[in-house]
Amino acid sequence: MNTKHFIEMEERYGAHNYHPLDVVVERAEGVWVYDVDGNRYLDCLAAYSAVNQGHCHPRLVKKIKEQAEKLTLTSRAFRNDQLGPYCKELSELSGMDKVLPMNTGAEAVETAIKASRKWGYTVKGIPKDKAEIIVFDGNFHGRTTTIVGFSTDPQSYGGFGPFAPGFKIVKYGDANAVREAITPNTCALIIEPIQGEGGIIIPKDGYLKELREICTKENVLFIADEIQSGLGRTGRMFCFEWENVRPDGIIIGKALSGGMYPVSAFLCNDNVMSVFTPGDHGSTYGGNPLACAVAREALKVIAEERLVERSEELGAYFLERLRAIKSDRLREIRGRGLWIAIELDKPARPDCVALKQKGLLCKETHENIIRIAPPLTISKDEVDWACDRVKEVLEAPAMAGA
Ligand SMILES: *Cc1c(COP(=O)(O)O)cnc(C)c1O
Repeated sequence: MNTKHFIEMEERYGAHNYHPLDVVVERAEGVWVYDVDGNRYLDCLAAYSAVNQGHCHPRLVKKIKEQAEKLTLTSRAFRNDQLGPYCKELSELSGMDKVLPMNTGAEAVETAIKASRKWGYTVKGIPKDKAEIIVFDGNFHGRTTTIVGFSTDPQSYGGFGPFAPGFKIVKYGDANAVREAITPNTCALIIEPIQGEGGIIIPKDGYLKELREICTKENVLFIADEIQSGLGRTGRMFCFEWENVRPDGIIIGKALSGGMYPVSAFLCNDNVMSVFTPGDHGSTYGGNPLACAVAREALKVIAEERLVERSEELGAYFLERLRAIKSDRLREIRGRGLWIAIELDKPARPDCVALKQKGLLCKETHENIIRIAPPLTISKDEVDWACDRVKEVLEAPAMAGA
C-alpha cells in the first residue's frame, strides 16, 4: 500500500478529529522520519515536543524491551521496583519533595487541579466548593471536559459543555489582571511559562517573577504546566528557570518518556502533596514499571547527551539564521531554545505543505504560525539543512491554499 491507500483507509475508518499533513510515516530515527513511499523528512515538530530525545532513541528502545520482558504492570495495589527510584530521581531533578505519577498530560493537569482545590479547602481554609483557580487566555492544558471548559479556543470547548465552574480566565502576560482576579477563595493559578499551542507566546521578562510574588503574598499556589516547555525544550530543564522562580507545583509529560509511551507526573512539595491520602486519587497505569523504567532512562538521556545545553545553543543559532530570511509574508520570528514560531500574515498551511515537499515536517498552529520544534538531538548541519529549506519556501511567492 502507498500513501494514498493509507490515507483513504484512515479517513474512512478513523475519526476526523485531526487534520494531519498527508505524510504516512512508517519508521524514524533521531530527527529523521521515513514515509511508506520511501521519502525522508526532518521532523520539526517532534510530536509536540514528546520526542526531545529523538525518535526511537536506542537507549530507550533497549530499556522498553528489557522492562517489557520483566514486568509491565502491577497496578498500585502492589508495589514495583521502578516506582521508588523513579520518584527519587524526579524529585532530585525538580527539587520537589514528591511525585504523583500519571499517564497523559491532561491527567496530570487534572491531578494538579485536584491537589490545588483540596489544599485550598484543607490548608488555606476556603469554604466548601468555593475554590477558584486562575488560568490564562490562549491556554492549552489538554482535552478533558474540565480542562476544555476553561479554554478560550472555541474549537476546543464548543459543543462540549456544560463545564465545571471554579476557573477564572485572565489575560496572559498581564500581572495586574492576576492581582485583580485573586479573591480569598483563590487556591491556585495554572500557567504555561511559554504558551506552546497558543503560538509560542513568550511573556515579557519579569512576568513569572511578578506572578510568583503575587502568589506568595496572597497564599495562592503557583502551578507551572511544563508539559511542552519542560525537559529541555527552551534551553533550560524547566522553562521557569529562565526567571529563577520556584513554582509550588510542576506538571510534566510528553518528553518524560521520549516518545515511547504516555508518561506524565505532577510534582509538588509535601505541604501540598500531603492532601492526598490513600484512595483519593489514582490511575490503573499511573506509575507502572514500564513507564517508570522508560522515564528514568529518558531523563538520563537528556542529562548525559546535554540536550538542555544543545537546545539553548542550537536554538539561538536556528533563530539567528531564520531571522535573516526576507519574506513579504513574515510578521515575526520568536523563540526560546529549540522552540521557534514563524508568524506569517497569512495562513501557514500552504507553506507547511511546501516545506513537506522539500523534506521538512512542520505543522501550523493557530492558522498563521509555523512552529519549529525539532528533537533536541538535531545537529548544526541539520539546522542549516532545515534553514535552507525554510528560506527557499518563505522567499518564494506564497502558494495558493492547500
Ligand atoms: C500537550 C499538552 C497538554 C496535554 O497533554 P496530553 O498528553 O495530550 O494530554 C497539556 N498541557 C500542555 C502545555 C501541553 O502542551
